[in-house]
Amino acid sequence: MNYDVILIRYGELALKGKNRDQFEDALARSVKSVLRSFFKVKVRRNYGRMYVELHGEDAYAVMDRLKRVFGISSISPTIQVEPDMDTIKEKALELIRQLTPEPRTFRVVTRRADKRFPIPSMEVNRIVGTHILRALPAIKVDVHEPETVVNLEIRAEGTYISCETIPGPGGLPVGVSGKVLLLLSGGIDSPVAGWMMMKRGVTLEAIHFHSYPFTSERALQKVRDLAQKLTKWGGTIRLHVVPFTEIQTAIREKCPEDYLITIMRRFMMRISERVAENTKAKALATGESLGQVASQTLESMDTINKVISIPILRPLIGMDKVDITDLARKIDTYELSILPYEDCCTVFTPKNPVTRPKPYLAARFEEALDVEALVEDAVARTVIEEITTKPKETTTDLF
Ligand code: ATP
Ligand code: MG
Repeated sequence: MNYDVILIRYGELALKGKNRDQFEDALARSVKSVLRSFFKVKVRRNYGRMYVELHGEDAYAVMDRLKRVFGISSISPTIQVEPDMDTIKEKALELIRQLTPEPRTFRVVTRRADKRFPIPSMEVNRIVGTHILRALPAIKVDVHEPETVVNLEIRAEGTYISCETIPGPGGLPVGVSGKVLLLLSGGIDSPVAGWMMMKRGVTLEAIHFHSYPFTSERALQKVRDLAQKLTKWGGTIRLHVVPFTEIQTAIREKCPEDYLITIMRRFMMRISERVAENTKAKALATGESLGQVASQTLESMDTINKVISIPILRPLIGMDKVDITDLARKIDTYELSILPYEDCCTVFTPKNPVTRPKPYLAARFEEALDVEALVEDAVARTVIEEITTKPKETTTDLF
């Protein structure tokens, strides 16, 4: 079957007025940006619907890309016909005929947005339904749980027929919620946290703390590769790579061992806040989940939060490790995350990290360091890399 357009459905029910306009603008931008370099298609908007005109491009290849555009609730490969009952009947039958496996049950759902069309929706349903039943003796009507729904939309700009609906990722289109700076390690959690933020419409930048030569070039490459995976959903990601060796060395020399992790995290936050300011990000995000490890207790988060005032978002806070891992598999970051390269935390892992650190003690221990100079120096030497989507990436591995 040669499809004419992909029908895109979208929208969270709560969106109204100005928010809705912004949502639509951002969605159109995302859709165009994921398709532009690969297909000669045209994106068109009309009253709460978006259409990708295929102009001969393969519907399934285009849909593979659209499956990763946040804000899309579902998509349908669709044909566009003349608003004429005989044509509608024939084309609907043709569409349902080519489905594999053959559906055993169906129903017809008509929306007559163009009231100039003379036949009421219920009547259209009946005419098309009867035509299909006559032509396909094995099929039955099921109005409650049909295997296939034949969707007819009769609109002023065209009459559309589809009988396949493929779920999109939902959420909000990237760009509507402002910018967030993700603390991206090489672990399982932080890429998932970044994905969840993007799903809420955030433009993502990432920051990584690198302790060369304690951590290898390969460990840094793994972080780039993880960021790369995330670009498939949100386009280019700027990665800020912070040289962290001097700070870690200073902490290890001057501070008590059980507070190493706490103080190290406080430095990460201070530096991230500066970078966020420079890049106009309105919040930080981490992959922390409550209680997962010693440094992820409420006391620890409090002690770490105390040194900055920018909000810290923790989208995984209430999730179990199994759920996070499942999501990592779905978004295709899991295999990369489990590659066994050292990260800056494992290099400095103390035997007994404190689980309930006290802010006043952390502050007192930090008096042994020139905090401001260390932070400023690390920010000054931070390198920004642009991570872009690979043009030839296959997409079959994604949901
Ligand atoms: P992850 O799987 O994301 O590494 P984790 O369970 O290993 O998380 P921690 O090592 O305690 O947890 O790190 C908590 C959070 O701190 C991470 O999710 C990440 O957001 C941030 N983080 C840790 N190490 C780094 C790093 N080297 N660079 C940037 N962010 C980091
Ligand atoms: Mg980690």
